[in-house]
This record gives sequence, structure tokens and C-alpha cells, in this order.
Amino acid sequence: MRRPLVAGNWKMNGSKASIKELLDGIKQGIGDVKHAEVAVCPPAVYLGEVSAHLQGTSIALGAQNVSQESAGAFTGEIAVSMLKDFSCRYVIVGHSERRTLYGETDAIVAKKFAAVRAGGLIPIFCIGETLGEREKGVTEDVVSRQLEAVIALEGVGALADAVIAYEPVWAIGTGKTATPEQAQQVHAFIRSRIAARDAAVAQKVRILYGGSMNGANAASLIAQPDIDGGLIGGASLKSQEFLTICRTAG
Ligand code: PEP
Repeated sequence: MRRPLVAGNWKMNGSKASIKELLDGIKQGIGDVKHAEVAVCPPAVYLGEVSAHLQGTSIALGAQNVSQESAGAFTGEIAVSMLKDFSCRYVIVGHSERRTLYGETDAIVAKKFAAVRAGGLIPIFCIGETLGEREKGVTEDVVSRQLEAVIALEGVGALADAVIAYEPVWAIGTGKTATPEQAQQVHAFIRSRIAARDAAVAQKVRILYGGSMNGANAASLIAQPDIDGGLIGGASLKSQEFLTICRTAG
């Protein structure tokens, strides 16, 4: 039985004051979330602040990005060891915004995935197709290619303890959620691709859905057999909305 995970990706939002308010709200309601694991991924400069706020709670800390390098002359970058220093458990790698706006290729994403694992943290590995790719009917080719880049570098076994987030790019921040059937179809495909290499890994790996998930649509998405929770952007910035999703999953 895979334990559901709901992770909030705050992206480049927040201030010390708004983060405190958001976390206070989440902390007040988190006791009702019995089964699901909950994580928040703030901007890197607030990791220390958020880590302190989360002390003594069941909420895990995640980062939105990391360097594939371990230390040295890489101005502006952050190493996995630094994220560990702040008690991070998860690191998002390969988010579509990083791929499209910052030129992260499949090869770079695979190296980041490897660095996160080597440091003992858990990658939340994002894959998904653009609208143009979906319309061309190449969704499965795209997610296979993204998946293969990691499998080629790390082996299929590396996925067992990782988290995959299927995030159709056309659904991110647009309010256009994939239907539960559309999402389930791709999640089942991803799991079957992994199962073709290793059935036990496929059964174990958690595959989250991301893309305009909110309190109203979470139940029908999470009810799908291959959807193991959500990576939540906009809705994770509102404590009550985020908690609704967490309760639905948990
Ligand atoms: C995301 O950025 O990972 C995401 C899923 O965003 P949103 O929920 O706002 O679509």
C-alpha cells in the first residue's frame, strides 16, 4: 500500500510574514490528516525559517530545486548537503518551469535526481507533456523519454524510493486540470513502463498528479488507482484549500 503524499510547491511566492500565517493555518488543521504525508517546498531563502516553524510537526520540508554539483565555484547554486543541513526530506527536480524557463534538459534533470539520491534525500521527479505534444498525440513518448533519462543514469531501482510527479504542462497554473481519466491513463502508462523493467519498483513508486489540483477536484483525481497524491502549486498558498486536499488524500 503506497502512502499518499501531498506536497505544496510555493514557487517564488511569500514573505516572512505571509509564510508564518500560511504555516500557522496548516499546522492548526494538520491533526485531521491521518494517513497522507504532507510536505511544503518554500523558496530556498525561507528554508531555515520554515524548518523552524515545522519543528515538532509531521509536515516534511522540501526544496524546489538543487544543483547537481556537490560544492565549489557555482555562484548562486545550492547543494544537496545544504538542503540536508536544513532538514529537507524532498527536492523537486525537473519541474516544467525549470525545464522551459531555465533550459534544464533531461540530462541535467537526471544528474540532479542522482545528486539528490546520493545525498540521501528524496527526489520529486516531474515529468509531463506540453499542450502541443498532447495535441500531436506524443504524450507517452514524452514521458517515456523523460523517465528513460533517469533510468539510464540511475537504473530502474532508483525509482522505488523516489516520487514521480506527472504534471501536464498545459494544466500547471492554468486552472485547466486534466480529467481524472486523462490523468489516470498517463499514470497507469508510467507505472506500466516501470513495471516492464521491474514490477516491484512499479508497485512501490508513488506517482503524484500536479496541475491545477484544488480542494474541489482533488477527490476525483486521488480516487484513481495510480494517483498517489498531488504536487500542488497555487492551492498550496491557501492554508484551508491545501488542508482540504491533504484531508482528501489522507
Ligand atoms: C506546480 O507548479 O507544480 C503546480 C502543480 O502548479 P498549480 O497547482 O498551480 O497548477
